[in-house]
Amino acid sequence: MTDAYAPADLPEKIQHYIDGEFVDSLDGDTFEVLNPVTNETYVLAAAGKKADIERAVAAAKRAFDEGPWPRMVPRERSRVLHRIADIVESRDARLAELESYDSGLPITQALGQARRAAENFRFFADLIVAQADDAFKVPGKQMNYVNRKPIGVAGLITPWNTPFMLESWKLGPALATGNTVVLKPAEFTPLSASLWAGIFEEAGLPKGVFNLVNGLGEDAGDALVKHPDVPLISFTGESRTGQIIFGNAAPFLKGLSMELGGKSPAVVFADADLDTAIDACIFGVFSLNGERCTAGSRILVQREVYDEFVERYAAQAKRVKVGLPHDPTTEVGALVHPEHYDKVMSYVEIGKGEGRLVAGGGRPEGFPTGNYVAPTVFADVAPDARIFQEEIFGPVVAITPFDTDEEALALANNTRYGLAAYIWTNDLKRAHNFAGAVEAGMVWLNSNNVRDLRTPFGGVKASGLGHEGGYRSIDFYTDQQSVHITLGAPHNPVFGKQTPP
Ligand code: NAD
Repeated sequence: MTDAYAPADLPEKIQHYIDGEFVDSLDGDTFEVLNPVTNETYVLAAAGKKADIERAVAAAKRAFDEGPWPRMVPRERSRVLHRIADIVESRDARLAELESYDSGLPITQALGQARRAAENFRFFADLIVAQADDAFKVPGKQMNYVNRKPIGVAGLITPWNTPFMLESWKLGPALATGNTVVLKPAEFTPLSASLWAGIFEEAGLPKGVFNLVNGLGEDAGDALVKHPDVPLISFTGESRTGQIIFGNAAPFLKGLSMELGGKSPAVVFADADLDTAIDACIFGVFSLNGERCTAGSRILVQREVYDEFVERYAAQAKRVKVGLPHDPTTEVGALVHPEHYDKVMSYVEIGKGEGRLVAGGGRPEGFPTGNYVAPTVFADVAPDARIFQEEIFGPVVAITPFDTDEEALALANNTRYGLAAYIWTNDLKRAHNFAGAVEAGMVWLNSNNVRDLRTPFGGVKASGLGHEGGYRSIDFYTDQQSVHITLGAPHNPVFGKQTPP
């Protein structure tokens, strides 16, 4: 069933895509996909189980063992990846429309994410041909070189926030390096994942290289992680799920990359440009509906400017425009799913007992239904508060004062997470010293989520394991075999014939 907000030509159902064909689950099972504005079911998606994963992995393995993709020279694969980027770019508006409808993301932000997905493919299309393998030669003596080989069937497990873009982040490098893949997208947002199939077909990706199985994490995701023919798993999602996957992959010693949750600090020193810091801290937590892994969801503010910051920040948070996802003026749309809405709202209630509510605190006016949460700001939040420690993953932020640099650092590091940190100061030395000491995989100094695709992306502590991005992705998706040859007389000792040195 569709509703008044539905884009034209929604699919009638969402299927798996295995060995070049759209197929239902072997047992015919489906699950309901909801539109976040109405919370009505708008489409049924095939609910994959172990048998469907087995079918998809078998297809991917056949394509890896016998098909052309891993055997192509990088230039040929690069051409296909560029065509994929071209198609995504040419359909960005449509992709954004569908993504926004499925996930509740504001349309303008979904458009930015669709374009970033194209950039990801283009980036890895270029990188794979620029990749110079290492070779070390001592003439007349020896030569060593590195064979960089695709690994096999990559299992890709993705979350529901910016799904299409995050899928591109894994699909781009996994395919560029010659692997074949089975993608298991998040069950809240399966729509955009199914669009990859058509795009890949059109771009000329050989059959069986890309396979997609929808379904619940505990069914399809679990079976993918436990499949013996899947030697590596790239996972993005909650830290708790990451722990389960880590355990399930352990008996197979699989290659693992984990991009997990966050509770990132934005540290505002008194000498910062306050206007810019306030704007950036608004964007940092309320863009993408607050459903952003790197959200600056704890703002630490130096005492001298604390009261002014809180007052101005709260006033600005109240002006953030909540609206229908497809409205181009909307800044915060609807949260992805009623289950997630309930979770975020429960933190809003917890926060009322833990901090001073200065903006939001419930449903925004004029939105009696749908998963809408008003941008919510709590001030004076103590570091042992749950809203300081736990990832909320919605438009909710905690503000805490500090006096000294040492106290700011201790507060910044005082959670189990370590994904990102934002530092606002005009003191260069302080900025770099703080960056070096803060426990975060990524630090933005007087800047906000601007990232060159060549840099590594990833977290420390409970925020992740390993890094993706740039050459780190190429390393993750390839085996690096070193080959050693003697070019001169054998110089290894030969037992019994050893000459004295
Ligand atoms: P989630 O962990 O609930 O689900 C992520 C994916 O894992 C889904 O596809 C799900 O079906 C699957 N899954 C669940 N249980 C599984 C199991 N036992 N075995 C295999 N697969 C399983 O996460 P979510 O709610 O979809 O996403 C939000 C989380 O993702 C937040 O914590 C956010 O911070 C994190 N995230 C991190 C990054 C990053 O780069 N660090 C980026 C985006 C999102």
